[in-house]
Amino acid sequence: MANKKFKGRLPEDPAVLEKEVDGVGRYTAGAISSMAYGVRTPIVDGNIHRLLTRLLALHAPQTAPATIKFLWTAAADLVGQLPIDDDREGIAGDWNQALMELGSQVCKPVSPDCAACPLQPACNAYSEVSGLHRSESNSRAECTLCAPIPLTTASDLIPSVQVFPMKKEKKASREEEESVLVLEWRGSGHDEGQEGTRKWLYVKRPEKGLLAGLYEPPTTPVNIINSATASASVKSQQYLEASLSALKVYIDLSSQDIATIIEQARYIGSIPHIFSHINMKYHIIHSVLSAPTAASDSSTGNGNGHQLPEILDTAPRMAVWLDAHEVEHANVGTGVKKVWSEVYGSWGSFEPTTGGISANANYVGIRKRKTGASGGGGSGKEAVGAKTKTKTLEKNSLSADGDGLVSDHSGSRKVVRKIMMPVMPVRSNKRIKVDQ
Ligand code: SF4
Repeated sequence: MANKKFKGRLPEDPAVLEKEVDGVGRYTAGAISSMAYGVRTPIVDGNIHRLLTRLLALHAPQTAPATIKFLWTAAADLVGQLPIDDDREGIAGDWNQALMELGSQVCKPVSPDCAACPLQPACNAYSEVSGLHRSESNSRAECTLCAPIPLTTASDLIPSVQVFPMKKEKKASREEEESVLVLEWRGSGHDEGQEGTRKWLYVKRPEKGLLAGLYEPPTTPVNIINSATASASVKSQQYLEASLSALKVYIDLSSQDIATIIEQARYIGSIPHIFSHINMKYHIIHSVLSAPTAASDSSTGNGNGHQLPEILDTAPRMAVWLDAHEVEHANVGTGVKKVWSEVYGSWGSFEPTTGGISANANYVGIRKRKTGASGGGGSGKEAVGAKTKTKTLEKNSLSADGDGLVSDHSGSRKVVRKIMMPVMPVRSNKRIKVDQ
């Protein structure tokens, strides 16, 4: 209670609580007021929402403002009818807790226990399912909130109380594609196996929205290219160009750096990644910059090698060069681990796979994959991807389209690829701390 105005005591009035105390919404305000102070005020949480929609047989969009308003009014009516006498000071709090408990333990989302429900005699959903009080169901036609209930039987009975609350409409997932550039920098000593001389460029995602605040290799939205009209080479060129132009806003690249990134680029392939509302396809490119050799001019970065490109002050988001240990412990999403697995074999591995081909940006190393990503989650959640098995293709022996479908030049050979789920390293709770 940082607000001195309240002198360390939460206000009793739910309207004041909601308005004056940060982080307190209508539900929390009602819960505090009714349970701590006995104020006769309602609450509507998810359990009470479901319970009331069944009691009232309300078949209306769950989150529509009119539905929410109706349920809060109904909850307030019920609280208002509780008996009033001196011995029942805490009755509103008890009532609200009882409704929540009944919703969570009896009137459950799936398989509600109507036989054991003390509210069964007053429950409109139960009545409609049982065929009781059929005349009252005509009132549904007059309801301005309710949508028609699809009936599956000729009896005109509602099949189950579970038709309440009304099912949420599932939005169709949208298709998106992104180019992911796994840019590796190899410092001097790498060849001798020294540790700490390799770094990877990571960018932090915005703090809001999809995968908020997680780290990822530079990832750039690209237009979906029609597989039928563009060759794999053309598509992979476009992915690299998109990644390069995005890269330039994060790090200071010399023309020699850019030429090397292009020269060393391997188009690893394309993988699907399913979010709850997005069907994403990642087009993965791996490239390497190496530190100056002894023979080159290490003080200027001229010659055959490259200094670690500096992060630009003007970078629109935080970008960092991470060493192997930091990469392993970085706060990343499942999609990044899948991308990493395509380049290095598994999450936590740092030896590039032999697949893919570096040929002066002539990317022909796409490999067959058998996809099967599935699942989904809430807002911005990732689904866990599919299982895979890899067979490396020989250079120039296969052609591929941008969707990763491969055939040999005779057109009949099939290459089986099974995507392995990233092997999770043994993790400590340590997360990367990056100075803002
Ligand atoms: S009778 Fe069934 S549907 Fe109605 S409130 Fe009780 S458990 Fe829920």
